[in-house]
Amino acid sequence: MAAPKVAVVGAGVAGLSAALCVADAFPACSLAVLAERFTPSTTSDVAAGMLIPHTAPDTPIHVQKQWFKETFTHLFAISNSAEASEAGIHLVSGWRIFKSTPKEELPFWSDVVLGFRTMSESELQKFPQHRYGQAFTTLKCDCPPYLLWMEKRLKAKGVQMFTRKVANLWELHNEYDIVVNCTGIGAHQLVGDQELFPVRGQVLKVHAPWVKNFVQDGDGLTYIYPGISNVTLGGTREKEVWSLSPDPSTTKDIFDRCCSLEPSLQAAQEVKVRVGLRPSRASVRLQREVWSQGGAKLLVVHNYGHGSGGFSMHWGTAKEVARLVGECIAALQDSSSRAKL
Ligand code: FAD
Repeated sequence: MAAPKVAVVGAGVAGLSAALCVADAFPACSLAVLAERFTPSTTSDVAAGMLIPHTAPDTPIHVQKQWFKETFTHLFAISNSAEASEAGIHLVSGWRIFKSTPKEELPFWSDVVLGFRTMSESELQKFPQHRYGQAFTTLKCDCPPYLLWMEKRLKAKGVQMFTRKVANLWELHNEYDIVVNCTGIGAHQLVGDQELFPVRGQVLKVHAPWVKNFVQDGDGLTYIYPGISNVTLGGTREKEVWSLSPDPSTTKDIFDRCCSLEPSLQAAQEVKVRVGLRPSRASVRLQREVWSQGGAKLLVVHNYGHGSGGFSMHWGTAKEVARLVGECIAALQDSSSRAKL
């Protein structure tokens, strides 16, 4: 049988990481990434890129923990390598603060991040409106550099990149044996997934190089996430809102909320406003399907619906994609050897 042809549709964090894992696991495959938009124009470019998971209600916690752990381990290794600054990956320490003690004092990811502990009274003095807090060190991706770095690695492995809007996955069946669907919120239209909905997020990217520690208000709505080149101030979570236009009153509200946590941000400069649609679902769709039409077949692997946690779990889900692509290749080999009998 000829080397299988695989297309990954989507060039956000889910698509590029899936393509890397497939390229590493099956170097003999002919692999291409097709996407309507590449960096810096994807939802993934808007994200803060912090590794602090959000719980997806219908994905078992042990699975979410495994995806987070695999992602953390992978990025931690990059952060300790000479590639760290080009890849935009770095460790960042800080605080998650609450107005009262949360129900869940030990989140499921507390033993994956580094040095998780309850904040001391003297540390809490920095946040006079808050009564309880957690201190830890985690990883942050500067998103556009990380996406660009993954693209560069894919090209070095001979993976081709095509700018192309796919109207229907079936249109790819003459060119590819296996299609990996990593289209984020685009899957709502592409495969008609009614369970997938946008959660609109507006953030500010500011220049404030003196801010070195992250701060997240416990509800996850207000946050200050310092990166290598800028600080992301957030945010909003607007369910079922599709607008990508920034709202000036929201910009002011975010800035005021963040300044109330870190007053020195009043001196921040070069405010850029970005909006993105989190591809949200009760669970990530990570699934293999066989599509057939008039005797022709297309093997499809879905990998979308990462919601608020695409960066926090992308490497774990990408490894699962590679396992599912392996099952597709085995099925292709099986049907090809049966056809020869
Ligand atoms: P996308 O990045 O949207 O990529 C989808 C790709 O598919 C694009 O290339 C697109 O062009 C392509 N595509 C879509 N439809 C088609 C089609 N029909 N044909 C061809 N190509 C198509 N997550 C974290 O873990 N940590 C954070 O700190 C964080 N902060 C966030 C802050 C904000 C404001 C927002 C909006 C999100 C944040 N997220 C965060 C969530 C994260 O951004 C998403 O989970 C992640 O970007 C989803 O990645 P994706 O690759 O699935 O989708």
